[in-house]
Amino acid sequence: MLADPLTALPGVGPKRAEQLATLGLETIGDLLFYFPFRYDDLQVKDLAEAADQEKITLKGVIVAPPIVTRVGARKTRLNVKLQVDHAVVLVTFFNQPWLKDKFEEGMAAAVYGKWDAKRHTMTGMKVLATQTEAAPSLAGIYPTNKHVRQSTLVELVQTAYAQASAEIGNVVPQALRQRFRLLSDAQIVHGMHFPDSLQEAQAARRSAIFREFFLFECQIQSLRADNQQAANGLAIPYDNQALRALIQTLPFALTGAQKQVVNEICADLRAPRHMNRLLQGDVGSGKTVVAAIAMYAAVTARYQAALMVPTEVLAEQHFAKLTKLFAEFPVKLALLTGSTTAKARRPILDGLRSGEIDLVIGTHALIQTAVDYANLGLVVIDEQHRFGVNQRRILQEKGLKPDLLAMTATPIPRTLAITAYGEMDVSSITELPAGRQPITTTWVRKNQLRSAMTRVQQELSAGHQVFAITPLIAESEKIDLQNAAQLFTDLSQAFPQWHVALLHGQMKSDDKEAIMRAFSANEVQLLVSTTVVEVGVDVPNATVMMIYDADRFGLAQLHQLRGRVGRGQAAAYCILIADPKNDTGVERMETMVATTDGFKLAEKDLELRGSGDIFGDKQSGLPAFKVGDPVADFATLTAAQQSAAALFKADPTLNAAEYAPLRAYLARMQRQVGRLD
Ligand code: ADP
Ligand code: MG
Repeated sequence: MLADPLTALPGVGPKRAEQLATLGLETIGDLLFYFPFRYDDLQVKDLAEAADQEKITLKGVIVAPPIVTRVGARKTRLNVKLQVDHAVVLVTFFNQPWLKDKFEEGMAAAVYGKWDAKRHTMTGMKVLATQTEAAPSLAGIYPTNKHVRQSTLVELVQTAYAQASAEIGNVVPQALRQRFRLLSDAQIVHGMHFPDSLQEAQAARRSAIFREFFLFECQIQSLRADNQQAANGLAIPYDNQALRALIQTLPFALTGAQKQVVNEICADLRAPRHMNRLLQGDVGSGKTVVAAIAMYAAVTARYQAALMVPTEVLAEQHFAKLTKLFAEFPVKLALLTGSTTAKARRPILDGLRSGEIDLVIGTHALIQTAVDYANLGLVVIDEQHRFGVNQRRILQEKGLKPDLLAMTATPIPRTLAITAYGEMDVSSITELPAGRQPITTTWVRKNQLRSAMTRVQQELSAGHQVFAITPLIAESEKIDLQNAAQLFTDLSQAFPQWHVALLHGQMKSDDKEAIMRAFSANEVQLLVSTTVVEVGVDVPNATVMMIYDADRFGLAQLHQLRGRVGRGQAAAYCILIADPKNDTGVERMETMVATTDGFKLAEKDLELRGSGDIFGDKQSGLPAFKVGDPVADFATLTAAQQSAAALFKADPTLNAAEYAPLRAYLARMQRQVGRLD
């Protein structure tokens, strides 16, 4: 059975199964749909044409008994003499003595290896076939990791195929396969793993890409279908008058873009279906006030609202801001974080349970099991990419079926929105409030640091604060930490009259919070940090963002960092310090200097980094695809999206018998999501 665990295959025990799971492989079906990303050409070549050190296939007859010799204590050498046409070629396999059993004098064999043209010998790499089997002409190369070897995968795929290929059904409905001239699943599996030609592999890949996108889009459609059902959602009949009154007390007029997204959200709140909306807007575009209006709407309908943020500092900031905003309004607020004392906690928990508290702001403490809500109607999640799917779901399950508004300041190119947050409706704030101080961005090389230091000195003397960011990349954490410590020492010496502090990812979260708090309170003027400064923190008095080794950051990250300044009245500066090692590094720096539009940067980022790096990057929150590339294969993605949408429109529950395999697939995926973290 395709759904059987891999342990059902001979040779796979619990330990091996665990190793395979690190590649996301759990069932026989997973393995059959785990495809090579390229192929080695095993076509037999005329020896006279083979270049030195070229990898080639030899086919011939074994003309002497194979011999294993020991070389030193641990090494072995297996010599096989192969007659190819009229020449005899010596093929040597190093340290694989067990291969000896595969060869016998007089037998035909095909081997793959590295050709030594001068000596007329080969270093063997693979035994492709002996006597009975036919030699393949292409060998698939699979993505592997340190737990699973290439040869293991090759063997297991063969075993799985022999055992289960007859059971491969078709998840893509026949009408679609006909319309887009797609291969059946069985043909895809065969063509991807064991192609006879590159053409066959390519045809299989084309169909595999559609299949992958189509299944993804079907998952999205089925989530959407659930959301559409009135039984799964809440109608929140908010008080329009009260909302207007709140908007009138704001110290500024809403921008056109803010008004529009408020309208979109309010329409969702009122409708009985479940709201699952993503609010994206550049740093500083004013998402918080939009969230506040939405939460107030829920409160006027006698529902509770919760605002979940990734850090305590941010929670405190939001709490202070919203307390001020709602000062004249009948809204009872509370702040609940990990450091809320047990004593302060009790009345908050009681208030949430009784419904006395209307609006609660906090960190993931909001989703702990002890927290019950009387009537939770709306959940807002700030910086949504910082939370896992599961945390989001637990919070939703706390209340009745609260509407969900997720906010992100990491814009993604509009064209990709359908794939990235496909199950969500997307609202975008596309303009910044008028009168914003533009942030002047400059790029200096390391030997031009003096000009940067002059700017820092000026701003510190004017009473402002400064960020100095240095990258922390996992592979070289130790060196990076040393760099950060060194930078801290250097800057402490360069600016002795100011308080300089160091913040890095290895610190305990209490310590991190304490330092961020000190910076917010202007007890620290210059903050050296390796972490991407706690997302969303608002320190309007900070006017300089210095980024060391800026070419090691992606554009989206640089833009986020830059957004930490320019939040007050004073002019702000972003200084990129970098000696880029390649052209894209240079282009990234130039792009940062040239534009401050987050959407444009996101598009450029995609162009420079390629979608592979962005999709699959945990920070991005975008799904990772195995065969398809959402950018290169965008036309296929769109076709798959439209096909899935049309299918669900015609048959929302996929009741027809021909959809049974698709239905089963979707049910299985849903169970998998339920198992996350
Ligand atoms: P972000 O979208 O990054 O979360 P915030 O909500 O923190 O942005 O808003 C940034 C700043 O802009 C806040 O100080 C906020 O009060 C202010 N602001 C929001 N909307 C407007 C507006 N329409 N006009 C002027 N200032 C605004
Ligand atoms: Mg914000």
